[in-house]
Amino acid sequence: MRVAKLVWRVKLVAELRPGVVTETEVACIERVAEAGLAELGLRLDEAKRLTAALQAEMVPAQVAEVGERRRACEACGRRLAGKGHYGATFRSLFGDVPVRVRRLLACPCRGEGEAKSSAALALGNGAVVAPELAYVTARYAALVPFGKAAALLSELLPLGGALHASTVRNRTLRVGAEIAQAPTAETAKTPTPAATGGLVVVGLDGGYVRNRHRAEGRRFEVIAGKVIHAAGAQHRFAFARTGPAVTAEAFRQALAAAGVGADTPATVLCDGDAGLWRLQRKVLPNATVVLDWWHAAVRFEHALQPARGLGRDTAGLM
Ligand SMILES: [Zn+2]
Repeated sequence: MRVAKLVWRVKLVAELRPGVVTETEVACIERVAEAGLAELGLRLDEAKRLTAALQAEMVPAQVAEVGERRRACEACGRRLAGKGHYGATFRSLFGDVPVRVRRLLACPCRGEGEAKSSAALALGNGAVVAPELAYVTARYAALVPFGKAAALLSELLPLGGALHASTVRNRTLRVGAEIAQAPTAETAKTPTPAATGGLVVVGLDGGYVRNRHRAEGRRFEVIAGKVIHAAGAQHRFAFARTGPAVTAEAFRQALAAAGVGADTPATVLCDGDAGLWRLQRKVLPNATVVLDWWHAAVRFEHALQPARGLGRDTAGLM
């Protein structure tokens, strides 16, 4: 007896020019009619193939369109001569897509100093990582070991090939390098203390990041904190503790980005670490300093422990 089958063909209907429609089959999903729980609905491998197939259709069409649009000179509108194509790989959450990017000769109206040719889309040499892929990779690499992040993302997403721990590390380092540069560019457009106004509470704490290979002995301290304005607005910040002057400047910039200056009336909550207090005195000299409840409780607990031990031997004391 023939086994009854259910078939779904997924077609992509593209309309890249008004009224011009093309159809492409991007997936075919089959099930035997007798479905158990495991056969109900889309499976992960099917969803991965489906999104990858969709991505493989969308990306080249977009790159070709950008190449077409850039063919006119921005200054004079003259049609630019092509200078061939170059190949690149677009690495995305939904797979690696090979693309051909158009190169264009510079317009004769441009000066001598200008480059002789340019690419229609800056995809770099070889491969480019989609911003969203860089974001998701760095986000999970910040929570779990690189190898675990690689395994998780490879399992859930149709990434091109298996993702390795070293790839996750390198991508995360690049994202980190960009973030580390960001504050200087940001300070120009930060709100002034007067603009935000009022009282603020600043919470500060530090923690160590250690190299997993102990022998290498590399570790550094990260200071993280939060600024809460009286009106409820919140800003988070973090920076690595390096030399005293650099650290104080990083703290000053983080506060400035949250609209807090040296004269802003502030309450600073911290754990009693001498280094954090020094940092606060340098940058927010007039702030009221409060040892936060959790750290205060921990100190009482430290004091109570020997006292309890003492009580065992000297009955009636405790
Ligand atoms: Zn021109």
